[in-house]
Amino acid sequence: MRTAILALFLAPAVLVSQAPTYDLVLRGGRVVDGTASPWYRADVAITGDTIVRIAPAIAEAATRVVDVNGLVVAPGFIDIHTHARRGLFELPTADNYTRQGVTTLIEGPDGGSPLPLKPFLDKIAALGISPNFASFIGQGTIRGQVVGDADRTATRDEIEQMRGLVRQAMHEGAFGLSSGLFYVPGAFTPTEEVIELARVAGEMGGIYISHMRDEAKGVVESVRETIAIGEKGRLPTQVTHHKVVGMAYWGGSVETLRLIDEARARGVDATIDQYPYTASSTNIGSALMPSWALEGGRDATLKRLKDPATRAKIKAETVAIIRDERGGGDPKNVQIAANQWDPAMAGKTLAEVTASRKLPVTLENAAETTLWIFEQGNAQGIFHAIGEQDLERILVHPATMVASDGEVAVFGRNHPHPRSYGTFVRVLGLYARDKKLLPLETAVQKMTALPAQRLGLADRGVLRVGMKADIAVFDAARVRDTATFEKPHAYAEGVNYVIVNGQVIVDGGRMTPARPGRVLYGPAKR
Ligand SMILES: [Zn+2]
Repeated sequence: MRTAILALFLAPAVLVSQAPTYDLVLRGGRVVDGTASPWYRADVAITGDTIVRIAPAIAEAATRVVDVNGLVVAPGFIDIHTHARRGLFELPTADNYTRQGVTTLIEGPDGGSPLPLKPFLDKIAALGISPNFASFIGQGTIRGQVVGDADRTATRDEIEQMRGLVRQAMHEGAFGLSSGLFYVPGAFTPTEEVIELARVAGEMGGIYISHMRDEAKGVVESVRETIAIGEKGRLPTQVTHHKVVGMAYWGGSVETLRLIDEARARGVDATIDQYPYTASSTNIGSALMPSWALEGGRDATLKRLKDPATRAKIKAETVAIIRDERGGGDPKNVQIAANQWDPAMAGKTLAEVTASRKLPVTLENAAETTLWIFEQGNAQGIFHAIGEQDLERILVHPATMVASDGEVAVFGRNHPHPRSYGTFVRVLGLYARDKKLLPLETAVQKMTALPAQRLGLADRGVLRVGMKADIAVFDAARVRDTATFEKPHAYAEGVNYVIVNGQVIVDGGRMTPARPGRVLYGPAKR
């Protein structure tokens, strides 16, 4: 009995003396802490899912010590705009993201999200994924459920019903309201109605993030609208994947950024996110056909296309969109990314598809081919119509964060936009290091502290004691994107280690089987 008691008293002491102090120590790295402060040399110690010590030299024993001398140790990247549910269920390790150092994926952008949110988030939690995951609730999805795809204003009752759905989603863990006012049915929503919904999200601590009504001719007006929704809705507001589409409108970012600065100066919490490419990607129908032609859903559109007079009207507008807007002035500037009814079409340009139909490649025939593609079952497209100067001007703006707008890419399948594989490392490699457009520390801030603050993630986004151990370790001299528009399936280079909640998911540049990602819940979760 006496010995037993003695052993009981001794046991903890023995355990302490034998057990290593830390689970993992990253030794000798350059800490870029996410705040945009200059890097400093330190060891970083992790226990469980938490950063427990950062010091010039940590000598205590650790279960594992990784020598990261010469490498950058940064917070894991937080991607505030993704379509990750595309592919995530097939590839829960989300390799194209995690190999870039991305540790948190935010879904539900552009007004489109699962509804209700809870079963979806439960499914993700049960799946077990490598990065963390969170979601917005989509205004377009809510309107689609309550009003349908109709081009009309909502009734008072419908607005109340929609506000109720926003409230429910916020209680289920949404981080705020997203809109896609460019898409049907978001396009049919008056600004006032968006404000009514945004208010609910704002009162519950959420933000508003918008794929704006118009990113081409009306881009300035659309930024005004996004600011107004934040101002009148009394919540933080964000222009998502900010760009100026169509050569005729290039240079427009001078004015849009001035509007953002002006709004911020008078106290409107307005920010921006962006992907670093001069091409966008969405489905061919939404991108190249007028939104009135898409009212009421696919069957209604097909019916319109059967009527010769209406078809001619749609085609004329599609010609203009290819010439002046998303088509980049030339059918060569539109590329097929994915096509379910003809997978072999992926990678071809609209010019090539037009020619393959034995039609001379004119704007009219390219428009006719666009309508034909829609009729066959639509397709995902890539649209080369963004100016490099606007891109760079937006990127260096202090209110701009980096986000991919990408998806979880199954390696080798389809012909996706390279942003899914390269967004973060492209900013670090091409724009920060090679073009010297911004300091590395600022580039990292745009991927970490900035989106974390935006979402109210108080325990991520900065490397500091007490924060969750989401970490990206990369070689600043080697980090780069390798995915191109020609060969999009290519992983990032120069990212050596990625840690999520204290677990190593990329180890010496290789994926591990660990799936430590968590579902993160917004400010009003019950
Ligand atoms: Zn979008």
